[in-house]
Amino acid sequence: FIELSDVVKRYGQNEVLKGIDLTVDKHEVVTLIGASGSGKSTMLRCVNGLETIQGGYIALEGDVISGDGVDLVALRRKVGMVFQSYNLFPHLSVLQNCTLSPVRAKVMGKPEAEQAAMDMLARVGLSDKAQAYPTQLSGGQQQRVAIARAMLMRPRLMLLDEITSALDPELVVEVLNLVRELASDGMTMMMTTHEMPFAREISSKICFLHQGRILEQGTPAEIFGSPKTPELTAFLSKLQ
Ligand code: ATP
Ligand code: MG
Repeated sequence: FIELSDVVKRYGQNEVLKGIDLTVDKHEVVTLIGASGSGKSTMLRCVNGLETIQGGYIALEGDVISGDGVDLVALRRKVGMVFQSYNLFPHLSVLQNCTLSPVRAKVMGKPEAEQAAMDMLARVGLSDKAQAYPTQLSGGQQQRVAIARAMLMRPRLMLLDEITSALDPELVVEVLNLVRELASDGMTMMMTTHEMPFAREISSKICFLHQGRILEQGTPAEIFGSPKTPELTAFLSKLQ
């Protein structure tokens, strides 16, 4: 479904991804773990074309989505991304935030987008906030709007980069519950998170990145239960 083959990413002389090979099947949830600076965000950014790559290729459903001549607008229609900072438009209401992209990208007409947005807001428990502005919402509510907004583009793949890191602990759970629901609905996802118990619970596969390489990948039981490299063992021991 998604294939990364020998992906190399450099910033100037700094090689940040040093030949990443990874396949993600449809309906899989793949979580990237690794120390700060190991390349997790960069990897996600490469998948939706926010970064160009200097070697290898990335393919989505058999189509190469990296390199020159890629239609980024079409790509981002297929690949949704949510970041740590919610990135809602402050001058637009929740409803307007949700309908802007699908209408602009002609995924839906305005009435259809508004209906779909209201349905999606109901799903994320924010029907009563449709007319509110982002600053009137809690961080957890804003992040749920950001996820709803991304889902309205009907993406084939969702990328979630530390989406609960900026949230107060009591708000984390509501966002994780939403991600859990998307996973059980079969949404294909690649994510990074510091919430290890959560990653362990919902991931079909965990990839451990170390200095721009995937040192280990496997099921949560394999990665957390029987790490094979000293690097992963050291990383896991620092978590608790
Ligand atoms: P964290 O857990 O802190 O989010 P990460 O694994 O997501 O870390 P990345 O953000 O992917 O790490 O960064 C990987 C490396 O790439 C780091 O060494 C970083 O300094 C470098 N890097 C990231 N973005 C840029 C950029 N725009 N320009 C130059 N170097 C960058
Ligand atoms: Mg990061």
